[in-house]
Amino acid sequence: MIASPVTGIVLSAMPIGEYDKRLVILTKERGKITAFAKGARKPNSAFLACSQPFSFGEFMLYEGRNSYNIVSVDISNYFEELRKDLEAAYYGLYFCELADYFTNENEDSTEILKLLYQSLRALSQETIGKQLVRRIYELKILTLNGEAPEVFQCVSCKSTNDCLYFNSSAGGIVCKVCAKTNTNLIKVSDSTIYTMQYIITSTIEKLYTFTVSNEVLYELQKCMESYKILYVDRKMKSLELLEKLF
Ligand SMILES: [Zn+2]
Repeated sequence: MIASPVTGIVLSAMPIGEYDKRLVILTKERGKITAFAKGARKPNSAFLACSQPFSFGEFMLYEGRNSYNIVSVDISNYFEELRKDLEAAYYGLYFCELADYFTNENEDSTEILKLLYQSLRALSQETIGKQLVRRIYELKILTLNGEAPEVFQCVSCKSTNDCLYFNSSAGGIVCKVCAKTNTNLIKVSDSTIYTMQYIITSTIEKLYTFTVSNEVLYELQKCMESYKILYVDRKMKSLELLEKLF
């Protein structure tokens, strides 16, 4: 058997048996895979550093019948900054959990992998606030999954005038006229709508290049909280901890 290389990010790592670890890795070549790092918990193991969430690099794998075994690794980014800052670490773990939720084995996940990488980078570089990074990531991952809300015209009448509200269950923004027959409306400003339009259409490389006012962040949070519930039905452990601790 020949080992083959894959490029990816470790999403999670679980201890298995006495010395091993089971890693879930989001890869460019094979989508989300499970791979075993034999002896990863021994103190002198070559896999010690790589078998933690956020580790990004090249993994040489042997393909077994049901899983992969890691032969060697070449990590190019450990995202060490995230390990030193507990709050950032929880955000990062939440991003990994969400990526895990939206990906499968042998499915092309190149864009989600790229998004996750850029988002972890944005978190560790701290050029924009963590809360904004989180909302951008949430909206973009839903977009990549084909589940973006309609934020370019009213979901009911297609008008582009006076769209003042967001309604998650209707699937996007609602104009002043249609609002009269709508419930569960969230008031949104033009800037918030523009922000959502930008996130949905922007390339991944340019996603984390802007910042917003507190008012826009607040509205964006409200929209994403109510919209996400419709598409993510798993409780995220990291998110629960994040919200409890910070
Ligand atoms: Zn309308």
